[in-house]
Amino acid sequence: MTTPMTTKERLAIDRARMPELAATIRSANFEEVNRGLAEDDAIREAQRCIQCKNRQCVEGCPVGVSIPEFIGRLADNDLPGAARILQHDNALPAVCGRVCPQETQCEAKCVRGIKGEAVAIGYLERFVADWAMKNAARLGAETPPPPTGKRVAVVGCGPAGLTAAGELARAGHGVVIFEALHDTGGVLRYGIPEFRLPKAIIDVEVDRLRALGVTIECNVIVGKTLTLAQLRQEFDAVFIANGAGLPTMLNIPGENLKGVYSANEYLTRVNLMGAGRLADASTPIIKGHNVAVIGGGNTAMDCVRTARRLGADRAMIVYRRSEAEMPARVEEIKHAKEEGVEFLMLTAPVAILSAGDGWATSLRCQRMELGEPDASGRRKPVPVEGAQYDVPADVIVNAVGTGANPLLTATAPDLALNKWGNIVADGNGLTNIEGVFAGGDIVRGGATVILAMGDGKQAAAAISTFLS
Ligand SMILES: Cc1cc2nc3c(=O)[nH]c(=O)nc-3n(C[C@H](O)[C@H](O)[C@H](O)COP(=O)(O)OP(=O)(O)OC[C@H]3O[C@@H](n4cnc5c(N)ncnc54)[C@H](O)[C@@H]3O)c2cc1C
Ligand code: SF4
Repeated sequence: MTTPMTTKERLAIDRARMPELAATIRSANFEEVNRGLAEDDAIREAQRCIQCKNRQCVEGCPVGVSIPEFIGRLADNDLPGAARILQHDNALPAVCGRVCPQETQCEAKCVRGIKGEAVAIGYLERFVADWAMKNAARLGAETPPPPTGKRVAVVGCGPAGLTAAGELARAGHGVVIFEALHDTGGVLRYGIPEFRLPKAIIDVEVDRLRALGVTIECNVIVGKTLTLAQLRQEFDAVFIANGAGLPTMLNIPGENLKGVYSANEYLTRVNLMGAGRLADASTPIIKGHNVAVIGGGNTAMDCVRTARRLGADRAMIVYRRSEAEMPARVEEIKHAKEEGVEFLMLTAPVAILSAGDGWATSLRCQRMELGEPDASGRRKPVPVEGAQYDVPADVIVNAVGTGANPLLTATAPDLALNKWGNIVADGNGLTNIEGVFAGGDIVRGGATVILAMGDGKQAAAAISTFLS
């Protein structure tokens, strides 16, 4: 038997670094950038965890993953044990291990971060989830529980809907997901590009839910094909998780010119319709020599890095504040810079210009400076008088945000909404209609995968209580 490691020995281990595809290679293809830790490195990283009694990391996780427990199993080289814990707590661990902003959640709370670097919880989650995928046969399938006879409809097949569906199926309820698009995953599939989250990962995670008995009906738009009232009649409860996919307009002249895309359309064409495979794709996309992406969030980073991969000579971020205020993940900004993306900071678009043939040719920009903090607590961008200039741009992508899509809610007049059109729900996801629950971006506005999943988990528990 080996001697257990002392805390001092654990503290002496340096944090693992994520192996990455070289920037020169990856900026010309859609291969995944982060390659994942090797087994030895993952086990060594797991040994950095000091197994705190007061599990701060778990408090930072919206779905309450038993972080020290799964890391402890990994540190002891018990990979099946680690995988079972992780899969029990998190319906989409391989997804979260890739796209969760751990630096502001679990890792932000890790006590090892107080005097050094936090345990790389995200890297370990990804490692264990990927191991579980490769070793599914060894782990064995989850046995579906005896049926309760109750049926729940879930609207939307994104992270909130998928998580709720998995939890409800594990409780023995019959679950049908209704999805508007022809494929599963919501933003995970149509928004987040392959180089951050390979589609094959989503397929495996979704198949695991199907094996639990979840039925997924694609090409069904609730609000058009079916109404909420019909679902409420046919099912014992409904969980609405239709996201927030309606683009926010820039409201500047020239927005309707050819060559101007919303981030949703741009990413959907590439990620869902295969327009990235330029030669053989039936859905076209304009490649653009000079591509300007407006915004500073993860969506903007995904668009600009996609533009680089489609061959743009100049791929630019246009953001009205400074880098310190950018909402995108630190890793996304770093990767974009390494791939040659230019950052035009303190720059606001004021008009899109054309040579008169209907096609965009350039973006008129206003230079900004930072003033006093606004309601968000961030310093407000203020125009610098007389400082305008034009930047050549034949493709312009608007990635400033999205709002609630009214397709479903317009046909559900009794459902309470807030002033932005988001569904009003309590902490358990309960809306003002009995038996109707909601969660994810449709309730919060654009948020994160893990918050959407947390809502799905919370609502599933409340639905089970409601049905019992
Ligand atoms: C480009 C991009 C990158 C992002 N990157 C990150 C990231 O790195 N990390 C992170 O944590 N978060 C990220 N986010 C945010 C995150 O993806 C969302 O917060 C999350 O997907 C919300 O989940 P959801 O289940 O509420 O909605 P969605 O993922 O939007 O899923 C909703 C689903 O409902 C379907 N639907 C809509 N209307 C109907 C209807 N009427 N009937 C039937 N189905 C309907 C939609 O087609 C969709 O499949 C990103 C978002 C975008 C847009
Ligand atoms: S806070 Fe950090 S060190 Fe402590 S148990 Fe969690 S991951 Fe391990």
